Amino acid sequence: MKEVVVVSGKGGVGKTSVVAALAILFQENNLNLVALDADVDAPNLALLLSAKDGKRVEDEIEVSEKAFILADDCVHCGQCVESCDEHAIVQPDLEEPPIIIRYLCEGCGKCAVICPETAIEIRAVKGGKIINSKNNANGFPIITGQIAIGETGSGKIVTEIKKRGREAAQKVNADVLLVDGAPGTGCPVIAAITGANYVIIVTEPTPSAMKAFERITYIAQHFPLEIGLVINKSDLYEPSKAQILEIARNNSVEILGEIPLDKNVPYSIAQAEPIVTYAPESPAASALKLIAERLLQSLRFS
Ligand code: SF4
Ligand code: SF4
Repeated sequence: MKEVVVVSGKGGVGKTSVVAALAILFQENNLNLVALDADVDAPNLALLLSAKDGKRVEDEIEVSEKAFILADDCVHCGQCVESCDEHAIVQPDLEEPPIIIRYLCEGCGKCAVICPETAIEIRAVKGGKIINSKNNANGFPIITGQIAIGETGSGKIVTEIKKRGREAAQKVNADVLLVDGAPGTGCPVIAAITGANYVIIVTEPTPSAMKAFERITYIAQHFPLEIGLVINKSDLYEPSKAQILEIARNNSVEILGEIPLDKNVPYSIAQAEPIVTYAPESPAASALKLIAERLLQSLRFS
């Protein structure tokens, strides 16, 4: 089984649209597939792949730790308020126990160590969801991770859904586990890349996306995997495209292909349908078919 992770270094370049199209094209090439949405802050792969909600199963998981004050043991001394570097503890009434602001608490435990009455406990809290669904038309499993608004611990939930994705892939004897990673270069991206065989970096020819491509390439090179490049909206700005291609060549990144600007794409997104089924003969869909062919060769499926 090959694990293919799609990342972008920054948001808004069309990563999830590429993932959705590749999922459909892998199926059309008779590959057994499990798709995973590891963009846990804003997951929308299932939406784009018309996931069936009828058989949707939700599982809540613990993703972070938070401080809790045991009011009966608290003597209102206020030492914990001073100790918290995140300003997550406030004491509006000095005659009452302080209050923990949940969204600011990082669960570091410093306040619990400081408290002279051992009146603070650090507890694991549930803040992540795992949603299992199936693609409506093709029936392959889609596993989605979602973190609650304002919660920390996105890397942890990505690690957990990747574990579940691998188990699901094993169960159905999948050829490919296709992962839609988070944008950026932070913890959830590292968690998504870990253990992958192949990382696809989707970018677009703009100065900011070029910089993001450089950063994510640098990170990906620290992992034992192959790296491929897809340039979306490739005719947007020639100088940035030339720079992206040069960075790719200098860093042994395989150039999988370019997707031209195509007015069919925003319409397909608006109707929540992958471009390869919405407008199969469109320039963008044709480019994606070539990209999928090259990728399948690199993964040694053809
Ligand atoms: S340090 Fe402990 S006893 Fe003092 S206010 Fe905080 S929780 Fe209460
Ligand atoms: S666990 Fe750390 S971040 Fe949370 S309230 Fe205590 S000191 Fe602040």
